[in-house]
Amino acid sequence: MRELNVKSMQQKISDLENPKKSKSKDGIWLKIENDIKYQLRILIPEDGDPWREFHVHYNVGKNFGFLCPKANFDEPCAVCDFAWSLWNDRKDHPENEKIAKQLLPTKRFITPVMVLQEDGSWEGPKVWNYGNNIYQYFMRKYTDPDWTDFWRYDSGRNIKVLCYKEGDKYYPTTDVDLAPKESKLGTSKQIEAWEKEIPNLDELFNRKTSAEVKLILEEYLAGEDGAADEDKYGSNKSTSSASSRQESQESELSRVEQSIRELIGD
Ligand SMILES: [Zn+2]
Repeated sequence: MRELNVKSMQQKISDLENPKKSKSKDGIWLKIENDIKYQLRILIPEDGDPWREFHVHYNVGKNFGFLCPKANFDEPCAVCDFAWSLWNDRKDHPENEKIAKQLLPTKRFITPVMVLQEDGSWEGPKVWNYGNNIYQYFMRKYTDPDWTDFWRYDSGRNIKVLCYKEGDKYYPTTDVDLAPKESKLGTSKQIEAWEKEIPNLDELFNRKTSAEVKLILEEYLAGEDGAADEDKYGSNKSTSSASSRQESQESELSRVEQSIRELIGD
């Protein structure tokens, strides 16, 4: 016989009592707009590790992004297997290299942060999602004795973040810098309250089982949006007639099919 989950009931009641404080999963992410200077401070989660690493698959069909079962949990991942099969095939089919790179998981890092407001108050916690370069920056600072204490609440530094578009690059560039001046984040009472509101970092990304990932790949390969298939699998761009395009599409598809058969051991 089941019992109610007391902890989740308490959360529901507290959300009802403090509607402003209850945050949807989406609202927890730090959204960084281009050309606006942000100042952040790190909050330390319960396990003492504010730089959490995840491997995420993006660009697989309409899925926004999900955790790679293999890289995160050492469980089978059909998307990785397929991406590697394309990668290994890139000598014969150079067009596969780009697709393989798109499909392979991307290393992402998340850090709970407080965000400095114009009036000098701090808003948060929010969760900042960033890539490997910024992570490397933090590690360099942490291992540099002049900067190693930058994460401290009482004598740390504000993290300055600026995103901007550079030329015709698709993704914006992000500059990260530490304030030269040390400062105090808040009173210990404030910080304790903020720390308590840090969400469970392991539950923020979409987790899929190996079976679900296999389905996602099958859907992606079936290409619901037919016209995009040619681009996905890199058809021969020099062919312009409908029939040759059809041919190349078919050969691409049969190759994809073959890869699937290999995957499922058919
Ligand atoms: Zn994977």
